[in-house]
Amino acid sequence: MNLLGLSYDKLMELDLGQPKYRNRQLFEGLHKKGQDYEQMSNLPQALREQLAEEYPLPVVTLKEAFVSKADNTRKLIFSLEDGNIIEAVLMHYRYGWTLCTPTQVGCAMGCSFCASTLQGLVRNLDRAELLSIFYKSSTYIGEISRIVLMGSGEPLHNYNEVVAYLRLLTDERGRNLSARHITLSTCGFVKEIERLATENLPITLTISLHAPNDELRRKIMPIADKVALEDLLNAAQNYQKATGRRVTIEYTLIKGFNDGLAHAVELSYRLKDRGFHVNLISVNPLEEASHQTPLRKNVEQFKKELEARQINVTIRRELGRDISGSCGQLRNRYVELEKRS
Ligand code: SF4
Repeated sequence: MNLLGLSYDKLMELDLGQPKYRNRQLFEGLHKKGQDYEQMSNLPQALREQLAEEYPLPVVTLKEAFVSKADNTRKLIFSLEDGNIIEAVLMHYRYGWTLCTPTQVGCAMGCSFCASTLQGLVRNLDRAELLSIFYKSSTYIGEISRIVLMGSGEPLHNYNEVVAYLRLLTDERGRNLSARHITLSTCGFVKEIERLATENLPITLTISLHAPNDELRRKIMPIADKVALEDLLNAAQNYQKATGRRVTIEYTLIKGFNDGLAHAVELSYRLKDRGFHVNLISVNPLEEASHQTPLRKNVEQFKKELEARQINVTIRRELGRDISGSCGQLRNRYVELEKRS
């Protein structure tokens, strides 16, 4: 049993052979302070040793941190107990640090512009590993006020662990992160979006759309073979109604593929009167794919075209490009280097 992944109620039920206030201290040590057992100086030494023996915590080790000279973005490389390597990113905004967290080792989704999927899905991260990544990142940088589930993996493909993780992270007796400061990005798990809307966990949902129609979307995102774009947008709109949280549409612009004015017009018809916000991103080219970054003026024109049709839109600021900007790139390079050395 992994104590880090236990809810408050389950941890309180655990018989440690101690008064119950020790269980509460343990929960606070794990979640409020992000401590290992040996750091919990308010617990008796014998209890700390017993916990370490009977309930070892997940071994998630911060191996290396890369700092962007351009914008102070930090890329953190962690190793897991089974030797897998994962990458998390810390981004600094005016309101503080945001953690971009992975939810799986690798990804099964096969989006053609994404480095995280090049080796397919290796395995899910469990709730304790996810929490450990958050707490270790926080120990490294200080307070983290927001998280985005946009790192390697499709979070809704790992639904149970991700939701349990978010419940623990937002527990007011623990880290007490506001659900409003959490953003989850999905490429299109419609049933899970519907389920998420019923969880009473009002997080922000982001849809990785990247194309204005099914035909174009299928060329870069295999999920489009299974999920129609209209069904996905309807699910997102229902989520927005149920939670009161405005949905964001992520649209990665690829030169000569989906960045034309006709694409912007078609996208605006698709999104008309839905109340979504659009985030435009310039693709970060991968060696393994032929996608090219769009011209800056085309990105601006695309934005203007959407605005002219009353679509709310921003261009996402690029962060950490000098330290392998796009999701999964740095982790893949790190793994390659480890293999060679
Ligand atoms: S973009 Fe997201 S869903 Fe698509 S392959 Fe990458 S990690 Fe997976």
